[in-house]
Amino acid sequence: MAIAKQSPFGLFAIDHLLTEEERMMRDVVRSYVDDRVKPEIADWFETGEIPARELAKELGDLGVMGMHLEGYGCAGTSAVAYGLACLELEAGDSGLRSLVSVQGSLAMFGIWAWGSEEHKQEWLPRMAAGEAIGCFGLTEADFGSNPSGMITNAKRDGSDWILNGSKMWITNGNVADVAVVWAQTDDGIRGFVVPTNSPGFTANLIHKKMSLRASVTSELVFQNVRLPESAMLPNVKGLKGPLSCLNEARFGIAFGTLGAARDCLETAIAYSVDRVQFDKPIAGYQLTQKKLADMTLELGKGMLLALHLGRLKDEHLLKPEQVSLGKLNNAREALAIARECRNILGGNGITLEYPIIRHMNNLESVYTYEGTNEMHTLVIGEALTGIAAYR
Ligand code: FAD
Repeated sequence: MAIAKQSPFGLFAIDHLLTEEERMMRDVVRSYVDDRVKPEIADWFETGEIPARELAKELGDLGVMGMHLEGYGCAGTSAVAYGLACLELEAGDSGLRSLVSVQGSLAMFGIWAWGSEEHKQEWLPRMAAGEAIGCFGLTEADFGSNPSGMITNAKRDGSDWILNGSKMWITNGNVADVAVVWAQTDDGIRGFVVPTNSPGFTANLIHKKMSLRASVTSELVFQNVRLPESAMLPNVKGLKGPLSCLNEARFGIAFGTLGAARDCLETAIAYSVDRVQFDKPIAGYQLTQKKLADMTLELGKGMLLALHLGRLKDEHLLKPEQVSLGKLNNAREALAIARECRNILGGNGITLEYPIIRHMNNLESVYTYEGTNEMHTLVIGEALTGIAAYR
């Protein structure tokens, strides 16, 4: 007798580990992605154009922008609920999840954690509603993994600041209303809240991307951007500021990548059951079943890890090196799953008729951004040995 078919997460009984509220919230985001994003995403990816402003507003209405933050119009959900939302959004596309991660975990969190009361009042309610979009400028063309060498600088002119330099690979750059920009000052690295309509601020769209095509990626250029004294984030100094934000976003990625992987795996399972070669479904061959079983194991293990990290975070116990475990493992395994699923679809695996190659290409960016695989390996290595091996 045939055993009833199980979804990969169903086999792990993942729902058993979630509260009713978490399951409900997850289902709301999943429905939005199914109804609004999945029918359009292949076209957005192919053309490299997304209705970012429209989506931001809808995502604000959905309550996912900065959802894990308290106050200022934010939903104040648990970390696990935020992770599950990231997972469902990334099951749609990593670009959609990036829009939400950069908004909530990088730009909003930076203002929420380190900004003045005026910064928070001015930006957070509108950003939570998706009426204002934020971006986060840390990386520069010559300083990616090692942001401490950044050249962008802010110098005093009377009580004002004058900002000069540039930032590279900035998600949401061309659609942002506000940029949280990290710059060298006489006092070390400081963060600045920069309205993107400031004279001297330019955003240049990065073209010819083969990954995260349904996401806006930009170069930011600052030419003598004059900012008031109050533009500086008053409550943090040094790399601790940007790293605290990255830690938030990396946590979301530990969940998010599993959404892309789940979509690939569910697509590959359904395809393999339907696709007949040598007179039987390719799902009926042991080689195919081994692939599906191995991928299900990695997906489920990644989810157990993400949930464990989420529960730790909700108890305020999560350490940055533990976030590295999640980001490294889940981005790496999601990419491996996407590549194997692409293989299972054969020739059909290379078209945008199926989601797999889009997820696969997106995951190449996710593998690199928010700390590369190597950087997280070194974080874990340092935690284990006490020896920093970055240099
Ligand atoms: P590099 O730092 O030059 O690294 C190249 C390779 O060398 C990598 O494999 C790396 O692991 C390896 N390497 C470097 N140093 C070492 C070492 N010590 N030991 C071993 N290996 C090493 N940044 C932002 O600030 N804001 C954003 O919104 C943002 N969005 C992005 C969106 C996209 C689509 C992409 C692709 C990037 C985005 N980034 C953003 C930038 C991203 O964080 C950087 O690309 C990433 O940190 C890596 O920097 P890099 O590209 O300069 O690579």
